[in-house]
Amino acid sequence: MKFTFVTLFENLVSPYFEDSILKRAIEKDLLSIEFFNPRDFTTNKHSKVDDYQAGGGAGLLLNAQPLFDTLKKIRHTNPNAYFVFPAPAGKPFVQADAKRLAKKENIVFVNGRYEGIDERVVEEFANEIFSIGDYVLTGGELASCVMSDAISRNISGVLGNEDSLSEESFEGMLLEAPSFTKPATFESKTTPSEFLKGNHAKIANLKNKMAKLKTQYFRPDLYARSCTK
Ligand code: SAM
Repeated sequence: MKFTFVTLFENLVSPYFEDSILKRAIEKDLLSIEFFNPRDFTTNKHSKVDDYQAGGGAGLLLNAQPLFDTLKKIRHTNPNAYFVFPAPAGKPFVQADAKRLAKKENIVFVNGRYEGIDERVVEEFANEIFSIGDYVLTGGELASCVMSDAISRNISGVLGNEDSLSEESFEGMLLEAPSFTKPATFESKTTPSEFLKGNHAKIANLKNKMAKLKTQYFRPDLYARSCTK
């Protein structure tokens, strides 16, 4: 998988891939990242990438020409490039999207700044538009890091133990059951005794019950959907 980030601020994204699981995925050639800066594609004298909004309105927009030319170049180089635009107006990004997108060859995250992007760029290039929550960020970079991280976990070989994927939250529309490590008693708080007896069928059964209770408590909306699935 290649993640291409179209951004004015490469430094906001690149450090995220310089440690831990994503760093190792790059070292193992399971992942690669590249950057394009729309400023490098400007045709105006001062390399300006923003402008006032047509018809008025507060704040500046990323204007069409530099972004359009950047994305055209990417599409020309790789006709299979899949363009994802982070935006508050997008559909909510969920685990099913992370799994589905992990099968793509090249995802291009087109990161807005200021008050967003000239809509004609979105119309021409967006394969999908995603929001990472009902709040407004200063730019798309953080949202792209969130999505690329969640997608990466679902690429074969990226996680050391892929069994952890099947037990994670949102599998089967439940949250993951509470987990414990050693010691069995810590600060007078104990691990559920069944977890210590080594009967894997009983542990799985208990974990399933706990996952249901946890989902009912923390995410009644998700639990209701899991019951109708
Ligand atoms: N004026 C826009 C609006 O009201 O919808 C907000 C623009 S925001 C300040 C700048 C950029 O941040 C957006 O173009 C988008 O790339 C990104 N962004 C902001 N909030 C986001 C969210 N909740 N999910 C995904 N991307 C977001």
